[in-house]
Amino acid sequence: MTQYVIIGDGISGSSAAETLREEDPESEITVITDEGESLYNRILIKEHAKGKLPEAPISIHDEEWYDERDIDLSLNTFVTSVDTDAKVVNTHEGEEIPYDKLLVATGGTPTQLPVENSDADGIHHFWTFQDARAIREHAEQANKGVIVGAGLLGIDFAAVCGAQGIEADYLMRGDRWWRYALSGAGAEIMHEGMREVGVEPVFDSGVDHFETDDDGHVTAAVDPNGDRYECDFVGAAIGLDFNTEYLDGAGLEQDNGIIVDEYMQTSVDDIYAAGDITRFYDVLLGEQAQNGSWGSAKEQGRVAAVNMAADEEAEQFEWVSSYSITHFDFPFLSFGHPTIGDEHAERKYSDTEWRRIAFKDGKVVGGVLIGDLSPQSQLKQLMREQREVADQAEVLLEKSVDLDELAPPQEQ
Ligand SMILES: Cc1cc2nc3c(=O)[nH]c(=O)nc-3n(C[C@H](O)[C@H](O)[C@H](O)COP(=O)(O)OP(=O)(O)OC[C@H]3O[C@@H](n4cnc5c(N)ncnc54)[C@H](O)[C@@H]3O)c2cc1C
Repeated sequence: MTQYVIIGDGISGSSAAETLREEDPESEITVITDEGESLYNRILIKEHAKGKLPEAPISIHDEEWYDERDIDLSLNTFVTSVDTDAKVVNTHEGEEIPYDKLLVATGGTPTQLPVENSDADGIHHFWTFQDARAIREHAEQANKGVIVGAGLLGIDFAAVCGAQGIEADYLMRGDRWWRYALSGAGAEIMHEGMREVGVEPVFDSGVDHFETDDDGHVTAAVDPNGDRYECDFVGAAIGLDFNTEYLDGAGLEQDNGIIVDEYMQTSVDDIYAAGDITRFYDVLLGEQAQNGSWGSAKEQGRVAAVNMAADEEAEQFEWVSSYSITHFDFPFLSFGHPTIGDEHAERKYSDTEWRRIAFKDGKVVGGVLIGDLSPQSQLKQLMREQREVADQAEVLLEKSVDLDELAPPQEQ
């Protein structure tokens, strides 16, 4: 009987456990997590922090779900190391859990700002349900906020401040929000959205250090220009440190993430990885890539499990990811890999509608849609088909995209 061990009960680990049970009904499956609760919807915890959603609908699996599937779930259990010779996982309580096949699905932890007083009371990072509870409790009584980190998670803090009535300054490096994926025209729509909820974007800024009161509570952020922003609430979201420390010495190839192939196999036999933590071979892109999104993590967990159970390279991971933001009056969606590419095409349609498409070697590799998400299925289809269409970008920038207007694909 095969023994599977999964480290991490986020969406990638949990989806792998579910698939393994289906694919290998007789096996032993153990899921280990250092969190005190089983799988919940990490995407929705921001709605809780905003004060909009109670706890119950955010939970996905209760402990019965694991019992019913005969999956052994260890909560509050931190994996400290993996011995790949003995094929054993070691926990903080000194337990040794043997495996035949192991899945690493431990995601990341928000990066701390490397500045003075960044651990002061009132400075929040956002990853777990526990974080969201603490943010909500504090945000309900806070007056003045500062947000740092001009990316997809930083904007959640802007939305929390907006929903909780905290006036805030959003300190950004550079001249716009998410400058790697948006031009000035697209970012301006987002800036307006922020202003409308009481969050003021501040450009060419950032944090040099925080000031605190005698009790160690944050009182101000001082930016590199010396400008001082008073605050009693701070949200910092400058990136993720991948949770790989326990793998030191295990010999897995890493490069800011765990390297896996398109079958989710690491460089070490019988060890697979899935979710945010991977740097995977993207078959559509033809190179290693990374992707921090829910749908992608879920699919990677499923594909890893199929290959673990089959004990061969049974299925490739092939996926076009999406990440949407619903905090403002207009919708926002990024898909694929909007921050890479050697060519871009974009158009603004109105004060709240904008589109940008990223191409690499003439093929669509990602993009951002603001206001009107209707072309997403056509653009994703082109990505999957890997058609060279950059020279016909005009068709893709039409308000309504009709793929029949494209010249037929060339025979390779
Ligand atoms: C506030 C917020 C909003 C988001 N919004 C969106 C969104 O709108 N759309 C979208 O697509 N994505 C969103 N994401 C990202 C998405 O949630 C992640 O990409 C996804 O949850 C990653 O899943 P994962 O299984 O790879 O990792 P995780 O969910 O991070 O799970 C990893 C688990 O492993 C545990 N762990 C780590 N180390 C150890 C160890 N040594 N021992 C035991 N357990 C360990 C961790 O505690 C964690 O429970 C959001 C994320 C956050 C935090």
